[in-house]
Amino acid sequence: MLDRAQTASRLVGSSPALLELDGVCWGPRASKSILQPVTLSVAPGEMLAIVGPNGAGKSSLLRCLYRFHRPTAGTVRLDGTDIWRMKPRDCARRIATVLQESASEFGLTVAEIVELGLTPHVTGFRTRDCDHDQVEAALALLGLTTLAARDFGSLSGGEKQRVMIARALVQRPDLLILDEPTNHLDIRHQLEVLELLGNLGCTVIVSLHDLALASAHADRVLVMDGGRAVACGRPADILTPERIRQSFSVGATLDDHPITGRPRFSFHLER
Ligand code: ADP
Ligand code: MG
Repeated sequence: MLDRAQTASRLVGSSPALLELDGVCWGPRASKSILQPVTLSVAPGEMLAIVGPNGAGKSSLLRCLYRFHRPTAGTVRLDGTDIWRMKPRDCARRIATVLQESASEFGLTVAEIVELGLTPHVTGFRTRDCDHDQVEAALALLGLTTLAARDFGSLSGGEKQRVMIARALVQRPDLLILDEPTNHLDIRHQLEVLELLGNLGCTVIVSLHDLALASAHADRVLVMDGGRAVACGRPADILTPERIRQSFSVGATLDDHPITGRPRFSFHLER
């Protein structure tokens, strides 16, 4: 019997990606720039959390990383190759996404939605037995086995979010990009999903609102504010009360969690 961590690492690709951003800028038109130049590399197998207030540019930056927004300046390289020089299918084989926009697949069951993650790897219309094993393993990992035959449209927001994570895992990504994947999840599923992401072994870039989750699970944290990357580094060095006050306009108190020993965050409004 495999444990959760082993199952998780078997689902993703075997060559975690190196992602390099070099002066990446983006705006909806030439006269309106939203992202100021962002330069940063994410090492193979690293987990980077992106935090920042509403409108900071987190989703815009992520959209540049999964080849949705073409940067207005700068490049995004996956293992040395500019993603805009790659074929879309080659990108889809290596990069999986879990996005905030809820899926529009109507009339499909949970298992069918998760199977869609196989699409970039399937040649013709054939799926193999091992592919079905992958679908079952991903459903089990996200606690969805009993929901497999349910109509996707009938699920709660949190259940849908777990289905989209299962679908991304079935894609066997080398780079997994998630935009606020925990916003609908109950507390237990938030903790389980973050632990799962940390055990995958692929490169993970995830935007999060919960600073404690980011601090406990990410190797590095990137703080976005006003379209700029204002700080990036190890959670303990970056998520300080001063930085939190500057970027989030709240007072923060940090202490150690009595059971896990991890940083615990409390916030208050400063008048
Ligand atoms: P975050 O994900 O951090 O909340 P976003 O990246 O979604 O922030 O948005 C950053 C800013 O850019 C916001 O002010 C948003 O309204 C604006 N923005 C994002 N996409 C577009 C777009 N396509 N056209 C115009 N403004 C946009
Ligand atoms: Mg966003």
